[in-house]
Amino acid sequence: MLVCPTKKEVCGAVRDWRRQGQVIGLVPTMGFLHEGHLSLVRAAQERADHVVVSIFVNPTQFGPNEDLDSYPRALEQDLKLLEDAGVAAAFTPSVPEMYGEGGKTFVEVPELGGILQGALRPGHFRGVSTVVTKLFHIVQPDIAVFGEKDYQQLAVIRQMVRDLDFPIEIVGYPTVREEDGLAMSSRNVRLTPGDRKIAPVLSRSLDLAEQAVAKGAPTAITVEDLEKTIRDCLETAPAGKIEAIDLLDARSLQPVSGPLEKPVVALLAVRFGDVLLIDQRVIAAG
Ligand code: AMP
Repeated sequence: MLVCPTKKEVCGAVRDWRRQGQVIGLVPTMGFLHEGHLSLVRAAQERADHVVVSIFVNPTQFGPNEDLDSYPRALEQDLKLLEDAGVAAAFTPSVPEMYGEGGKTFVEVPELGGILQGALRPGHFRGVSTVVTKLFHIVQPDIAVFGEKDYQQLAVIRQMVRDLDFPIEIVGYPTVREEDGLAMSSRNVRLTPGDRKIAPVLSRSLDLAEQAVAKGAPTAITVEDLEKTIRDCLETAPAGKIEAIDLLDARSLQPVSGPLEKPVVALLAVRFGDVLLIDQRVIAAG
């Protein structure tokens, strides 16, 4: 596996592969890799001849009071996992390598990036779309794989790719979970042992909502019922501070109400101490 700390090195590697007519896949990450990331890598490998994984904790997507400094990092361990997974190249830039003197240009998807997590974390999606644009230009992949766990992020990136004509296929991959249902996340290691025990309440609340739909006649259940089911379950774990329970049209991310006519996505954000956990589920009637 090539380890490329500079843009020049990764560009050079990809240029050679492209000249040979090979398909390039990209999996952007912030490192501290787990099975969720590795599933994305395998999905990319199924579609591409060479997979590049970027590891970059992107400062511009963290707010001033967020966990940039305490975000877990383990570069050597990550590189070993990627090597074992048969990744062609790891792109591991430093912040100065990525941004030079500091970028003065941004890419923004204001509508989708300004709501929900974007409203709770001002500037977050601007940081994401800008860094993903840079990664797309540096690596020039044919396909790029993102997790559905970050549902709004995936929607923002799909919109950006459509609007700005990136010649890149975006692949979404389902959320990979621990045995107790907790969505895998690099941030899970920062939970206290007590909070770690309670944290599966997010996925349990989504299971209950899904089961309620499966049980009842589809038109009998409303979006408000689902919200209540989820809230009641989350409130059984008061250590988790509910930051958001959003039930939205699964495609447009616009608010919905009343009977469950179209697929809705439930997006949850729950804070345990200073660790913000998110989870999502698309729930469809019938
Ligand atoms: P991160 O390192 O958290 O920025 O995540 C890098 C990529 O991995 C993003 O596309 C995430 O959506 C995806 N990802 C993170 N956790 C999971 C998971 N548990 N299952 C599937 N994809 C994930």
